[in-house]
Amino acid sequence: MNLEFNPNEICACGKVHKTDVENCVIEEGAVNRIPEYAAKFNAKKAFIVADVNTFPLAGEKIENMLKENGIGSAHYIYQQKRLEPDEHAMGSLVMHFDAACDLIIGIGSGVINDICKVFAYQTKRPYIIVASAAYMDGYAARTSTMPVDRIKTTISAKSPDVIIGDLDILTGAPKHMAAAGLGDMLAKYISICEWRLSHLINGEYYCERVAEFTRQSRDACVQNAEGLMKQDKSSMKKLFEGLINCGKAIDYSGVSRPGGGDEHYFCQMLDMRGLEFGTPTASHGVQCALGTLYAIKCYQALKHITPDREKAIKYAESFDFEDWSRQLREFLGKGAEPMIALEAKEQKYSAEKHKIRLNVILENWDTILKIIDEELPSVDEFESILKVIGLPTSIEEIGVEKELLPMIIKSTKDIRDKYVLPRLLWDLGVLEEVCSSL
Ligand SMILES: [Zn+2]
Ligand SMILES: [Zn+2]
Repeated sequence: MNLEFNPNEICACGKVHKTDVENCVIEEGAVNRIPEYAAKFNAKKAFIVADVNTFPLAGEKIENMLKENGIGSAHYIYQQKRLEPDEHAMGSLVMHFDAACDLIIGIGSGVINDICKVFAYQTKRPYIIVASAAYMDGYAARTSTMPVDRIKTTISAKSPDVIIGDLDILTGAPKHMAAAGLGDMLAKYISICEWRLSHLINGEYYCERVAEFTRQSRDACVQNAEGLMKQDKSSMKKLFEGLINCGKAIDYSGVSRPGGGDEHYFCQMLDMRGLEFGTPTASHGVQCALGTLYAIKCYQALKHITPDREKAIKYAESFDFEDWSRQLREFLGKGAEPMIALEAKEQKYSAEKHKIRLNVILENWDTILKIIDEELPSVDEFESILKVIGLPTSIEEIGVEKELLPMIIKSTKDIRDKYVLPRLLWDLGVLEEVCSSL
């Protein structure tokens, strides 16, 4: 299969595959390329944004290199040990900004990048991110996810114009950060599986080339799992490339499907509860890896189920949305409101829509099982990957009670208008029994 995406060509899926991620340098000493890019942007003065942990990685070096090339600089260093990308962080950046600066350079991973992407978008400045760790796949994303009034919100931003993946910096980051990055890559088992399932069940847009590009990027990372734990540079290169490729796959397809499925919603549920109730959370990649594990368990459980039309219809008819809304409010607090409101627009629980989906599911049951078989590893295979990189194999290891699992998974069906695991289970009338078997 041709996995070179040409922006001048119409793919068999009907789309032209384009990406904004054009300049991504992944090599040893990549940071040395910054003056060259700064000159390309005609920059006179750069504004460097970092935190206390990331500034020492490259901050001074970048300022010196820019100076040698006749480019000035100013910087703002966040002093917090655990920085949140919230209104406070955004506000202090605005207050410390030197408006003479015509280029933004961020040094960091998720939080610094999320803040800088929004800031560069608002101030209309070119933006270079120097990655401090191969920690998650959002480097290139055109949006930032930030808590606004303590609710996680997606905010318009811009993709970085240049992504610097300096292998000397990346392999120097703590190992658990690369493990989290790989955890985010593991999510791509579920994302591709669910993309295919929804294509089959709902006729949703799908591109096999983008799916295959994502699978190959993921597999290259999985094959390098052991090397990553030895902080090997060629393994790190594969991981960082994989994380960037996921951003490209989202650009190519124009949908978020290649990047994540139910396991990302699983992660979001834990984050929402953490924000609302102060309950334990872990990093994005760790939570996504756990979400992937439980989703694989549920999908594998489907193989032992015989779909039953009458049972499914009875289940859907007895579903009480008012009661479910009450449960969501209790479980998630105010974050539940937009989820409940979404149903008025989407009508996913309507009896008519259910019957249409159920017919397709029953007619294509063998194909559904085949997709699950083709896309997902067994639970044992998956757990052995988690063990190589030292990621948890149960939710209790991150401090969340196991009794909450069914409700976490059930809630993920309401968060967006995406057809994911618990919706298929709901359509079949087996949501409770599968979730409680975990
Ligand atoms: Zn295509
Ligand atoms: Zn992710």
